[in-house]
Amino acid sequence: DLSNRNQTQLNQLLNKILEVVNHERLIDNQTLFVTCSMGVALYPKDGSNFNELFKASDTAMRHLKGTRKNSFNFYTEDYHIERVNRVKMINELRKSIDNNELYMLYQPIYDMSDMTLNSFEALIRWKSPTFGQVAPNIFIDYAESTNLISYIDEFVFATCLKLRRKWHDFGDHSTVLSINLSSKGLVDSSFMHIVERLCLEHYYIPKGIQIEITETALISNFDLAKEHLTRLKRLGFIIALDDFGAGYSSLTYLHQLPIDCMKIDRSFSLNPGINNNQDLILQAILDLAHKLKLKVVAEGIETDKQKNFFLDMDCSLGQGFLFAKPEEEELANQRIIDRLEKN
Ligand code: C2E
Ligand code: MG
Ligand code: MG
Repeated sequence: DLSNRNQTQLNQLLNKILEVVNHERLIDNQTLFVTCSMGVALYPKDGSNFNELFKASDTAMRHLKGTRKNSFNFYTEDYHIERVNRVKMINELRKSIDNNELYMLYQPIYDMSDMTLNSFEALIRWKSPTFGQVAPNIFIDYAESTNLISYIDEFVFATCLKLRRKWHDFGDHSTVLSINLSSKGLVDSSFMHIVERLCLEHYYIPKGIQIEITETALISNFDLAKEHLTRLKRLGFIIALDDFGAGYSSLTYLHQLPIDCMKIDRSFSLNPGINNNQDLILQAILDLAHKLKLKVVAEGIETDKQKNFFLDMDCSLGQGFLFAKPEEEELANQRIIDRLEKN
C-alpha cells in the first residue's frame, strides 16, 4: 500500500518521465512529436509476479489510450471486474442463438411531410436469463471481438429475408426493410457466401431489403468493403450509410461506393437550431446528399421541434420515438396490412 507521501513521489516520478519523453525531436529534418501513455501496477496489490503486474499495467494503459493521451493511469480492481463480466457475457452470448434468446424488433420510418409509413428498420434484441435485456450496442461489440458476430449477422439476415418474403406474400412490394450489417460482416468473404446462400434458400431476390453499414467497416478495409458492397448491390440489396456525421464522415465515400441512402446521426437532432456551425454542416451534408440523389433519413426524432427542423431542411424521412418505438413483428405486419387495405 502506498502512503500519501509515496503516492506523491510516485506521481512526481511519472510526471518527470512524461516530461522527458514528451518533446519535439528533429530526426532527418522531420519534426516528430512523441507522446507517452503509461499504465501503472503496484506490487503486491495488483500482482505478485512479473506476469501479473505486466498484465495489470497493460490493462491500465489500454484504458488510457482511448481517452487521454500523454498521461498515466493506475490499475484498479474495476478493470478486472469488467474483464470477468465481459468473458461471462460472451459465454452467455454463445448460447443465446440456440436458446432462442435473440429476436428482432422493427421500428417504422415515416415520411414526415404527410406522416405516411415509408419503411422499417430491424433492430436486434437479446434477453439473457443471466443479464436480462442487454443493449445491442454492448453485445454487438462483444460479438465483433469474437467469431460470434457471423452467427448473429446470419440470424438477422435469415429472419429479415423471411419477414420481407412474408410481406411480399401479403401483397406488399414496396415497403423497404432495413437491416444492420456488422462492420466485421461486411469485410468477411465467408459471410458474403452465407448471404448468397440465404437468398437462394428463401427464394428471394432481395428487392425491398436495405443493408445499413457504418464507417467502421470502410475504415478497416476500404477496398474489400467496396467489393462486397458492389456484390450486395448486384444481388439486389439497397445500401445505406448509417450514423452519418458521427465519425469521420469522409465525403469521398459517397461517390466511391454504391450508396443509395444516408442516415443522419442522432447527434444532429439533439439540439436543432442552437449550434449554428452544426446546422451549417448538416445543411451542407443534406445539399450534397440531394445532389447525389441519395435518400436521406433523419434518426432520433423525439420532438415536434426536431421534426419541423428537418422538414425545413428539406429532409422528409424520419425515424424516432416521436412516431414509434421499435416494435414486435405482429405490429409491423399489421401496419403493412392496414396500409394495403387503405390503398
Ligand atoms: P442504429 O442502427 O443507428 O439504430 C438506431 C438506434 O436508435 C436504435 O437503438 C433505436 O432504438 C434508437 N432510436 C430510434 N429512435 C430513437 C429516438 O427517437 N431517440 C433515441 N434516443 N434513440 C432512438 P438500438 O436498437 O438500441 O440499437 C443500437 C445500435 O445497435 C444500432 O444503432 C446498431 O448500430 C446496433 N444494432 C441494432 N440491431 C442490430 C443488428 O441487428 N445487427 C447489427 N450488426 N447491429 C445492430
Ligand atoms: Mg441502423
Ligand atoms: Mg443509426
